[in-house]
Amino acid sequence: MPCSKIHLLTPVLFLLALPAFLMAQGKAAPTSYDLRVRIEPASGNLAVLAKIEIPVEPGAKNFRFNLHGTFVIKKLLLEGKDAIFSSVPGEASFMLPPPQRVIVTLPAVLAQNKVHMDIEYEGRLKEVGEFGASSDQKEAMDDQINSRMVELAGYSSWYPQFTFGTPLQLALEVSLPQGWITICSGKQLENRVKEGREITRWSSPNDIDILVVASPHFKKKTFREAGTNIEIYHTQMPEAFIDNEVQQIAGVLKLTTDRLGETNIPAGTIKHVYSPKRKGQGAAGISRPGMIVTSEGRTLDSLAQDPHFSLFQGIAHEVAHFWWNFGADQGDWINEAFAEYFFSTAVQTVSGEQAFQVVLDNYRKQVRGLPPDVPSLANVPFMNDKVAFVVRYYKGSLMLHSLRQTLGDDKFFQACRSFSDTYKGKSIGTQEFRTFWKDRLGDHKALVDTWLDAKGGLPM
Ligand SMILES: [Zn+2]
Repeated sequence: MPCSKIHLLTPVLFLLALPAFLMAQGKAAPTSYDLRVRIEPASGNLAVLAKIEIPVEPGAKNFRFNLHGTFVIKKLLLEGKDAIFSSVPGEASFMLPPPQRVIVTLPAVLAQNKVHMDIEYEGRLKEVGEFGASSDQKEAMDDQINSRMVELAGYSSWYPQFTFGTPLQLALEVSLPQGWITICSGKQLENRVKEGREITRWSSPNDIDILVVASPHFKKKTFREAGTNIEIYHTQMPEAFIDNEVQQIAGVLKLTTDRLGETNIPAGTIKHVYSPKRKGQGAAGISRPGMIVTSEGRTLDSLAQDPHFSLFQGIAHEVAHFWWNFGADQGDWINEAFAEYFFSTAVQTVSGEQAFQVVLDNYRKQVRGLPPDVPSLANVPFMNDKVAFVVRYYKGSLMLHSLRQTLGDDKFFQACRSFSDTYKGKSIGTQEFRTFWKDRLGDHKALVDTWLDAKGGLPM
């Protein structure tokens, strides 16, 4: 495996993070989506026909979902009958332009604790600049539809959104003009041309978001490494960069599989898409089961500044999220701490002890610089401003490193595997982390509370 130059950046990462108001409140059953999506890049129009099975609480009078603010609902049926619904402006945040909050009245009697909704809607996305497109942004959105490219993810609420970070089931059909290359969440079932349209169908039985990325200019490179297919899509990345990246993905995948066992990679394929946007979410971008979407523009900018630029840090972190994705709401720090620490252990394996110490020293330096009143890991909010980022990613990593030093490598990595096996496909918070790891630490269990509850920088 080629040695990678490690870049100790403090990138602004918005990886899995979406705000807490989209999080499920302990809802277990997955929402099941069957979407037919027609996209017109020239006009920017998106039209969707959706059939959705929605779990509802017993006795509930209504349910709510978010939908992109400018979309118009043309039809909404529950159990095949016209439904009563209204919509109010939803909560917005920097990365999420204001959605509409749709409130639907439930029938008086339901046969089961779920309801079937048919919904038809269409519209054009609000025009908001990509993240980082200007220095004085009030809001940012990477989701876009234009004649260069399409990118859709949970950030725009382009599909009815009930929760975020809990499992959803997906069947998806996307129609784009002939010649466009489409990459979506899950496994590709079909790709055909009909009446001048490129039709693709996808299935993902256990996902957390619905991604659609498309461009008429995508080139595809396929590799098979470590028992997994790796597909890379890009429009203008240098070949040598792509070849090096495949080795990195394969190496990190093998290392993490050895340590934690197999994970959910739909169809045994990892898709890494260099979305041809100019700016957008930083570092390696966003990660969903089996799929990573990175800004091609940002990566090319970094390469122009430094020909040895490598995405190793970002890629290793994102690959680790294929396992570490079950922390929900405030507990999202669990995903980030483990993904980040597993990146640093990949550095230890690939580049050696000295490089590993450089990574840890950077974490320590950043964490020492935190103000004394910064919330503890047990209370850090689910967001990525500069302070919360250092707590969630770096202080969390240093806690895991401390647990590893106390337990020793064998026990620590066995415990990681057992933690991941126990909570795979579920949603947990800080409390589950605390209980699990205190149990593993035995006589040293106070260490877990010390790390979780200390405000400010390093607790010792
Ligand atoms: Zn992450």
